[in-house]
Amino acid sequence: MKEKILKKIKQEVLACQKCSLYKDRIYPVIGQGSHKAKIMFIGEAPGLNESKTGRPFCGSSGKVLDELLDSINLKREDVYITNILKDRPPKNRDPKIEEINACFGYLERQIKAINPKIICTLGRYSMQLLMQKFGLEQDIQSISKIHGRIFQCGKLFQGLKIIPLYHPAVAIYNANMNSILKKDFEVLKILNK
Ligand code: URA
Repeated sequence: MKEKILKKIKQEVLACQKCSLYKDRIYPVIGQGSHKAKIMFIGEAPGLNESKTGRPFCGSSGKVLDELLDSINLKREDVYITNILKDRPPKNRDPKIEEINACFGYLERQIKAINPKIICTLGRYSMQLLMQKFGLEQDIQSISKIHGRIFQCGKLFQGLKIIPLYHPAVAIYNANMNSILKKDFEVLKILNK
């Protein structure tokens, strides 16, 4: 059933024209990893490398993400990685609200099908969207205040936890951010036991 749902989402995204981003599409980036993952990472939108390959986080921020996963003995195959938007915004600009609204249905169905125990949001767009959609709007603060904290969603969401994390791109030129991200990932190591 789960495989059927995820396959249907893939087919729909491949043909999607719900917003104008399809016009520059090379490949949409649907998601990658285990369909039984306990942990789901949700980034913002594909960059150029991602849209050329159809794989999430395969450029320089992906390298940071791989190192962070490695630091807690996790592999990409153990988790599921996707983005809010499935197509790349031109020149990697910020996602527009109408693009987020057009695309959210796919992410919502991916989350339902995979049914992770923990969602790690990567960056502030993902943090804001996911906390808002999962009944945590009153807890939203700046990412510098709440990164690495565990937020328990209400009963309606079957005990799902959300952990806001900085986007891995922040660590590319800033070693301090790398150590903050590493420390936040330690939380996942404990929860994943
Ligand atoms: N940044 C994101 O948010 N997602 C990707 O897939 C790549 C870079």
